[in-house]
Formats: sequence, C-alpha cells, structure tokens
Amino acid sequence: HAKAAGRAKFQFYTDEMNRAATARLDIERKLRGAAARGEFELWYQPQFDSRQGHLTGLEALVRWRHPEDGLIAPPRFIPLAEETGVIVEIGTWVLREACRQARQWLDAGLPQLRISVNLSVRQLREKCLVETVSAALAASDLRPGLLELEITESAVMDNPDEAVALLQALKDLGVRIAIDDFGTGHSSLSYLKLFPLDHLKIDRSFVSDIEHDANDAMIVAAAVSLAHNLGLSVIAEGVESAVQVARLRELGCDELQGFHFSRPVTADVVENSLRTVWRTA
Ligand code: C2E
Ligand code: MG
Ligand code: MG
Ligand code: MG
Repeated sequence: HAKAAGRAKFQFYTDEMNRAATARLDIERKLRGAAARGEFELWYQPQFDSRQGHLTGLEALVRWRHPEDGLIAPPRFIPLAEETGVIVEIGTWVLREACRQARQWLDAGLPQLRISVNLSVRQLREKCLVETVSAALAASDLRPGLLELEITESAVMDNPDEAVALLQALKDLGVRIAIDDFGTGHSSLSYLKLFPLDHLKIDRSFVSDIEHDANDAMIVAAAVSLAHNLGLSVIAEGVESAVQVARLRELGCDELQGFHFSRPVTADVVENSLRTVWRTA
C-alpha cells in the first residue's frame, strides 16, 4: 500500500511538473514570438526637478501591444520574461530602442534629455551586458551621459562584490546609474558607498502615504540624507498629489516622478509635450 501510494504521489508530482514545464515553454514561445514580431513598445514617464519644475529626464517603460489582448503592462509579463530568460532579448531591444528614440528626438531639434532604462537582474548576469550597452549607444551615436541604467536595490545586493565590478565597468562607458525601488530590499550601507551611483530612486511605497505616515517621512528623510552624503541625487517615485510634492520637496528630494505630473506616455506624446507644456532646463 505504502509503495502504491508513493508511486501515486510521484505520478502526481510529475504530472504537475510536466504541466508547469509545458506552461513555461508556452509562455517562453509567446514572449519570443512577440519580440520577433516587434510587439513591444516603449512608453516614457517624465521626471521633474522638484524646485525649478523643469524636466530632467524620461524613464522608458516597456509595454506589450498584444494583437488580441491590447496593451499589456510589465508586471504581467516581465516576471515571466525573467523566469524564462527572454528578458535578456527584450532588454537588449529596450536598450537599443531607447537610444534610437533619444537620437531621433535630438535629430528633430528637441532638447537633450536623459533617458533611463530598467535592467533586470538576469541581464546583469549576462557576460556581454557592457558590450550590449556600448553597442546600443554606438548604433545611435548617443552620448553615454544621456543614458541612465536603473538597477533595483535587490539586484545589486544579491551579489554585491560582483555588482561593484560590473557597475564600475558600466560606469566606465560614461553612462549614469540609478538604484531603483530603494528601501524595498536589504541594503548594506557600506556597499552603497562602493557602488559608482548617480541616482537613488525612493520606492513609491514610502511616498503613497507620506502625508499621514510619520515613519515613511522619516525613512525618506534618512534616504535623502544618506544619498546626499554619498553625492547622489534623489528621485521620489509614485508621486500622485500636490501635497506629496510639497512634502517631498521639503524633505530634500531633488527630482519627482509620478502620475501627479504625468503617466507614462507614448513617444509621440513626449514630443508634443516637449514642444508645448514641458519646460526643459
Ligand atoms: P519601476 O522601474 O519602478 O517603474 C515605475 C512603475 O511605477 C511604472 O510601472 C510606472 O507606470 C509606475 N508609476 C509611475 N508613477 C506612478 C504613480 O504615481 N502611481 C502609481 N501607482 N504607479 C506609478 P510599469 O510601467 O507598469 O512598470 C512596472 C515595473 O516593470 C517597473 O517598475 C520595472 O521594474 C519593470 N519594467 C518596466 N519596463 C521595464 C523594462 O524595459 N525592463 C525591465 N527589466 N523591467 C521593466
Ligand atoms: Mg525603474
Ligand atoms: Mg521603481
Ligand atoms: Mg518597481
């Protein structure tokens, strides 16, 4: 009986595992197909100087234009792309497309703008990442200083020693580096000092309730003070109200990003806004 039960259980697990593996392959095939058919698009969200109010940069955010399901936001496919490794392919496209778009805006006579691109932890593990970034810049003849790479706090803290070397190699290209979602992972403050960073992005979970939650305000104040002491500039993410703007400015955040100013928008809307409502430095 025990043997039969054991076999049945084993059988159950293999079926489950087969199903999971099949589902994974299916998703991987779909994501690769989407990449091959050019179904990914970049949208852009502006970042503004907290005091002067001018535009400081744009964050590129990928979307999947699905032929039947419409526009799909990253939380619905980035984790799967990471799990299956397809993120490396998508990420390379994102880098090249962001640089291409930046070049096109420059050629159209629009002001020089910093463009930020999100890198996944999977991309950081690729040996050719530095090469990929450098090739994307070269293909568009873009000044490296205009490209910023956003890396999450948890991705760098995963393996800080390797991250220090990798970030330094990226930094040597002349690109800028931002730590994304700061405050959500476990940062070793001593490592933070060793990373060649330009920007610290305070996660929106500390912003959403900042006008009521004294702890959140205290955390933002501490992060700002830490960043400024390390010579980094601070962006607050997820700013949704005028009250939050005032509070974050008071707390010393240098730049602000969020729905209060603008949702992520298409490249066309960026161009229009640059010609009309957004003021640059
Ligand atoms: P993230 O890098 O932290 O990007 C900010 C996210 O917060 C964006 O969501 C943006 O639309 C959203 N957001 C901005 N302002 C507000 C606000 O005021 N309120 C609220 N509730 N949300 C706001 P999105 O575009 O859905 O992207 C989600 C995440 O997906 C990104 O978080 C990033 O981790 C990842 N992601 C997006 N594009 C890429 C990409 O090209 N490559 C990689 N590896 N990851 C990406
Ligand atoms: Mg980001
Ligand atoms: Mg973030
Ligand atoms: Mg995030």
